[in-house]
Amino acid sequence: MIQQEMLQYQSLDMELARIERDLRKNDNFVKRKQYKAMTQECEETIAKLDAKASDLRNQLAQAQQSVQKITDVIEEHSKEIDGLEDEDELNYLNKKLNEQIMELNSVEKEIRRILREGEEIVKSFDDANAKLPRLVAGYNKCNEEFNRAAAEVKPRVTEIRAQQAELKKAIDPSIFEIYKKIADGGLQPVFVALRDGTRCGGCQMEIPKAVADARFAGKNYMRCEHCGRIIYKKD
Ligand SMILES: [Zn+2]
Repeated sequence: MIQQEMLQYQSLDMELARIERDLRKNDNFVKRKQYKAMTQECEETIAKLDAKASDLRNQLAQAQQSVQKITDVIEEHSKEIDGLEDEDELNYLNKKLNEQIMELNSVEKEIRRILREGEEIVKSFDDANAKLPRLVAGYNKCNEEFNRAAAEVKPRVTEIRAQQAELKKAIDPSIFEIYKKIADGGLQPVFVALRDGTRCGGCQMEIPKAVADARFAGKNYMRCEHCGRIIYKKD
């Protein structure tokens, strides 16, 4: 016979699993997870916007440096033009001056593009920053509610664990080891009786006598190789 204590232990394990399952199905548990994911996403967005803003600041600083350089060259050319009378040289410098003015126009265009992108970033940044506290508050609320639900079942969980510790003292350690190995692997161990002295009471698979004799040697249970159930002898 399988020990009564082992079966009681198992039924308490099943109750624990049920409690655990119910908690995971709890609305606040599910919502809490969603809020956490959304919060993370929002924080990542803010970090990305930060990096983009810093990149734009560098671009702007570079563009401003270019403006300064071009302005200096323009000023130099203008001074040179002032004292010139030779037409060829005047034409040449005028051409140079025009080139600089065209370059200045293109840098200014670039600056307008940077500022426009900057405005977009500020807007997205404001949106994300307004959203974040709402998400954090939502998470906290669900977390609180879920913790309340978890606290409600805690006394029963503590009680079950105490009962199991007590039962364990009476359970044959070797069968408990098998039980634990199966249970920790995420399965619910199933105990079935040996049928007709040769078959698994679960899957009905025939067990060769030599195998059964070897497996049952010194104990009254074995693991079914076919279905994984724990087969015990009804003696
Ligand atoms: Zn079986």
